[in-house]
Amino acid sequence: MTTTPPPRPYPEMPWARTAAGANTYDAETGSVLPTIYERTTAGALAHQALNLGQGFPDAQGPDWLLEAAAHSITHHEIGPPNQYAPGLGIPALREAVAEHYRRRSGLVLDPETQIMATTGATEAIAATILAWARPGSEVVAFAPFYDSYGACVALAGARLRTVPLRAPDYRPDLKALETALTPNTSMILMNTPHNPTGTVFSREELARILHLAAERDIVVMCDEVYEHLIFDDASHTHSPILTVPGAENVALAVGSAGKSFSVTGWKVGWLTGSAKLVNRVRGVKQFLSFSSGPAFQWAVAQGLQDDQGFFAENVATLKKGRDLLHSGLERAGLRAHSPDAGYFVVADVSGVSEHSAEAFCAELLTHAGVAAIPVSSLISAETPAEDPLRKLVRFAFCKDHSTLEEAVERIVRFTE
Ligand code: PMP
Ligand code: GLN
Repeated sequence: MTTTPPPRPYPEMPWARTAAGANTYDAETGSVLPTIYERTTAGALAHQALNLGQGFPDAQGPDWLLEAAAHSITHHEIGPPNQYAPGLGIPALREAVAEHYRRRSGLVLDPETQIMATTGATEAIAATILAWARPGSEVVAFAPFYDSYGACVALAGARLRTVPLRAPDYRPDLKALETALTPNTSMILMNTPHNPTGTVFSREELARILHLAAERDIVVMCDEVYEHLIFDDASHTHSPILTVPGAENVALAVGSAGKSFSVTGWKVGWLTGSAKLVNRVRGVKQFLSFSSGPAFQWAVAQGLQDDQGFFAENVATLKKGRDLLHSGLERAGLRAHSPDAGYFVVADVSGVSEHSAEAFCAELLTHAGVAAIPVSSLISAETPAEDPLRKLVRFAFCKDHSTLEEAVERIVRFTE
């Protein structure tokens, strides 16, 4: 009779520590779980539930953009659309990204050296972290954080230290950030507008973070994938980090077409920064995917050149969804935060449940047919059990308004 050896302890192997960094290591079986987003979508499908979990819109993106993508696959006047693109991305996309930031915020970027197209923001994040997170060093991020930050930091052999964003406003505590930085810190990871709280970091906050990084000669990666999803009643305006004085030698910014144009499956992202910093990240990116699909890049370039009013329309629709969901969650007795930006409402479930946010989400799925994400999946496993972040649940409102209305009714009935 053969016996299965006990699972090897994390974090011995790179695959295991990568999984553990994103709370996807199953210690009982010694295997890797799909991400919290995939698990939630699978759970929603299995229970035929309304999916307010994974952050993808029900809407398909504007027709003219979809048609541009279809056109680009079969039309060769735009360059070979079905063969390898240059490692930095097709020139049309890099020029469109440069022009887009120049027009919107006066930022001047050289498309030859300061912009690199990536396979989604996810690849830009991975390449940036792997380029700068020295093995044995510490990487500081605000919590909650996008799951891939924890995974990539662990893969790099570095250690993640987190600085919590706290209710009621979820603003960054810059004193706490300063305290978390040590001589062993190799980089700071940040995300504005922030997933899942919707916090838009102010220009002053960005300047302070850049200053702290410059003093220590460390790099700041700023993930700006929600830059086009900022509501008109936001308490702070968004400044791309590269427009803040002091960014040049320390900051790299990450963008993505997925959220901006409601085409999350296209996986077209980009990294911007000084020629020197982008060049260093290229050294990693070119051996992750080498280059990314040119046809979608071309379509995204068309959208960035002229969004045909889509960004404003999309934000107006999202804002209605936000208000619908936020007021509904409050009606259900949850303490919900109305975000300044993005796709998500976070809500504290301690008023309606003694259990953890995971248990609340599991019951909400099975008893009410609504899928949501416990924020405990988006924080470090070392976060103490009593931390208030563990009582938060994330609900996505980038869904049809009829779905949101029905979800709210179900949640209200569930908590009654
Ligand atoms: N960063 C954040 C904060 C996100 O929410 C997401 C999901 N869109 C990503 C990065 C990944 O973006 P992409 O799908 O372009 O890889
Ligand atoms: N960014 C999306 C979210 O936060 C999903 C990303 C993913 O599924 N990897 O929900």
